[in-house]
Amino acid sequence: MNIATHPAPTTLRARAYANFQQQIVAANIRAGQFVSQRELMQLLAMPLGAVRELIPRLEAEGLLKTVPQRGLQIANVDLALVNNAFDLRHVLEREAAIRFTRSVADAELLAIEQTHLVILRRARSQPINDTLLQDAQAVDWAFHDRMIDALGNGLIAETYRINSLRVRLIKLEVSSLHSGHPVQAMEEHLWFIDALKRRDEPAVVSRLHHHIDSAHRRVLGLPLIVPMLWWQSAVPSWGDFDLLALDIGQGSAVLLRTQQHSLLFDAGPQWSAQTDAGERIVVPGLRALGVVPTAMMISHKDRDHAGGAAAVQQAFLGMEWMGSGGVPCQAGQSWTWDGVSFVVLFPFEGSSPGKTTKSNATSCVLQVQSQAGSRALLTGDIEAAQEKALLRAGADVQSDVLLVPHHGSKTSSSANFLNQVQPQVAIVQSGYRNRFGHPVPAVVRRYQERNINLVSTPTCGAAHWRSWSPESVMCERAITPRYWSSVVP
Ligand SMILES: [Zn+2]
Ligand SMILES: [Zn+2]
Repeated sequence: MNIATHPAPTTLRARAYANFQQQIVAANIRAGQFVSQRELMQLLAMPLGAVRELIPRLEAEGLLKTVPQRGLQIANVDLALVNNAFDLRHVLEREAAIRFTRSVADAELLAIEQTHLVILRRARSQPINDTLLQDAQAVDWAFHDRMIDALGNGLIAETYRINSLRVRLIKLEVSSLHSGHPVQAMEEHLWFIDALKRRDEPAVVSRLHHHIDSAHRRVLGLPLIVPMLWWQSAVPSWGDFDLLALDIGQGSAVLLRTQQHSLLFDAGPQWSAQTDAGERIVVPGLRALGVVPTAMMISHKDRDHAGGAAAVQQAFLGMEWMGSGGVPCQAGQSWTWDGVSFVVLFPFEGSSPGKTTKSNATSCVLQVQSQAGSRALLTGDIEAAQEKALLRAGADVQSDVLLVPHHGSKTSSSANFLNQVQPQVAIVQSGYRNRFGHPVPAVVRRYQERNINLVSTPTCGAAHWRSWSPESVMCERAITPRYWSSVVP
């Protein structure tokens, strides 16, 4: 139910309660604040009798407590409360969303979509100010309330509404300074609305959970799924490109952007039959960034690279698909976008004989070069034999940044190969404490011995490299260190 537009309650007691809600919404009451009965009277513009009757109800709902010697305290926000409140949202909204998928009319969905698009246009065309943040927040809550209301169950609506008050207190208390970008919540909603429009229940559920998780993380100040560093980074100029190695755990997903185009190289891992990094991280990330990939190249068919491909394909239907699952990679394929050249170096004729070959050995190797000559080399999971084959074929592999082959496995990054590539920066995409122990110490040493700046996603987070500053790499976690002083729940 939309608290702001709830019909005016008739009894004094009900009015006192409604006023209390309004004060939370208006941020006049803050978590942890002490209030006297007299202050409550003034704040709610209510007589003492109504305030006295209100107090036990607020206590029962956990919104207020009596602290001996000190008086009345508005609910204090601790980590358990935050986690419980968001967990309750997952439980209630999941069923509400499933039923909403079956009941909502197309026309209403289109109207809801419009209200989101209006906010999004404003966010993109003007500086973010308080009014816009409030309007975005109102659209956000109203949509969630609408789904709960559609259940037509007063008991559930009541429970949800009390929990909303808790979440609002949490937001006011914890996240007023970094409440996140309003665009992200709107983009997440639009993606969710897209699943509703298609009446795709599994996608509805997955996207809803993604959105609630994302709000939960924003409140806790944990890293956003979209690397913050990209918010600040301008689109590359003509002739330049940038590279973002996404933080997707054990697997690979790299976004390359030129002035007007972008290529997704690998789409992240599949975690289970229901969830993959394409659906949970790559697509929401691209959407929040406003990136519609021109093409996707899947280096090879292994699940840690191709697992998210179907979800990405479904989200961006006009996108070209190269590599595994699409037009196969072949050395010599090349194209130019905005003055930046893309060349496939591997596989070539005879490089992967027979069908018994491991799929790693069939990985696409892509080299990208800026107008000024800065280069990036993306290698998939090639191993020593393919590294050797590339060198033997006379490929000019020299590059400024190298996506470390096969996540830093001992099978790859051979000494000769590194001597020829001579990167200044190398990026490993691997999972935190992954079961393979990637990158392995012997491989890390090989990079260190050559003074190559090696960063890996478990410690760096998403890594951002730019062709106009080829000697440096930016780590999401170095840029936003406060995230890492937070306690991970
Ligand atoms: Zn929302
Ligand atoms: Zn792999």
